[in-house]
Amino acid sequence: MGMYQSEKTAKELETLILEVVALQKDSVEIVCAHCKSPCCERVDHLFGEKDVLFLKLSGRKKRWRKNGTRKKGCRLLGPFGCTLGPGSRPFICHHYICPDLEAEILRSEAGVLPLLQEKFKIIDTLRSQMWAEYLDDLLRRQKG
Ligand code: SF4
Ligand code: SF4
Repeated sequence: MGMYQSEKTAKELETLILEVVALQKDSVEIVCAHCKSPCCERVDHLFGEKDVLFLKLSGRKKRWRKNGTRKKGCRLLGPFGCTLGPGSRPFICHHYICPDLEAEILRSEAGVLPLLQEKFKIIDTLRSQMWAEYLDDLLRRQKG
């Protein structure tokens, strides 16, 4: 049996997500290591329905538990940063670029920021598309 369209879209998304991670990597390493108020310590549960669907369609597991011990910040944050692989993080974690990080990306290389923004837009579109395709695929499956 072939792949469902929603699974193909999840594959495309996976590629794009790894691309946006790679594009930011150097700047993240420079700026976030010295951050006084890391965004991961200021947020709570960030997974939305599209993140959960992407995990399912790309064969990833949900790796969170409801009752964490951390009082403040994301429960997936460990002593050495995020405990999730890049492909398993909620999209917002890739998309959120604070002003300091933005400044570093701009400084590092011309063209990277617009490229990132372009890819974020495509990811956004594909995430909505994946959801619609998933529902169509379910219908097809029910019909046999
Ligand atoms: S993205 Fe910005 S706020 Fe978040 S850890 Fe990096 S420097 Fe800090
Ligand atoms: S999932 Fe990872 S990157 Fe996202 S807020 Fe939590 S610790 Fe930070």
